Amino acid sequence: MHRSHRLASLNRGAVPTLACINQATTPLDINFDTLVRALQSYVSQHVAPVWGTNARLVKSASFMPGAWALVFLDDADAPGALAYHDLTPDGLPQAKVFVRTLLGSGETVSGAASHELVEMLVDPGLNLLALGPDGTSMLAYESADPVEGLHFAVHGLPMSDFVYPAYFEAFREPGSALFDHLGSVRRPFEILPGGYQSVYKDGAWTEFFGSAAKRDRFLCEDRRSHRSEQRARAAPKRADVSAIARPVTNATDGTGCSRALLL
Ligand SMILES: [Zn+2]
Repeated sequence: MHRSHRLASLNRGAVPTLACINQATTPLDINFDTLVRALQSYVSQHVAPVWGTNARLVKSASFMPGAWALVFLDDADAPGALAYHDLTPDGLPQAKVFVRTLLGSGETVSGAASHELVEMLVDPGLNLLALGPDGTSMLAYESADPVEGLHFAVHGLPMSDFVYPAYFEAFREPGSALFDHLGSVRRPFEILPGGYQSVYKDGAWTEFFGSAAKRDRFLCEDRRSHRSEQRARAAPKRADVSAIARPVTNATDGTGCSRALLL
């Protein structure tokens, strides 16, 4: 890795450039330029004032040296999709949005992309945790999962609600602070009905759900390459550009539903 890239990746005060790369053959539900502009406003006007994590989003045809990445793919079974792995070829943060998967489940591209974006900016190393209220469990420092399913409009596009720093502060009394952008969360560590939380305890990760309906939906989702699965892996892998260029169709193992239920 070039020295300047390494320094940029470690400097939390720096504003990273983030390459938005659309490799999906499935038509998006929104023009890609419009989406990138709206995501930029989401980050700069909503996320950065709260978390101090701004970013400069640019549309790009491929990975950019020194830049983080937000990659749009059809699904985890698309040729070459799994070769994107966890990080950019430079070893910098990368998020993926599976367009066909999410549109098939009634979600929006902007909702899913903003979810991944805010979580990547708040915890780019996928390794932050907060000590839970019981003093023994560790909660994943994910900013969109507990409020998943709630959105607000940016440039007319639905964008993911996200929690505020106070969400992870156990000393906060209920209703005493703003715990999420929409003001829907009333207390620290609350999981809203459409949300979930990844909890690390006794060396293992467990998902806690805000409702039985959310649990049932979650178990039927294709979770491959989601942050919760990447977090559980010990060593994140860089994107393999040569494997992406020479795609091999990945073997499928049935629907996300049957696979998840087998776990
Ligand atoms: Zn998430």
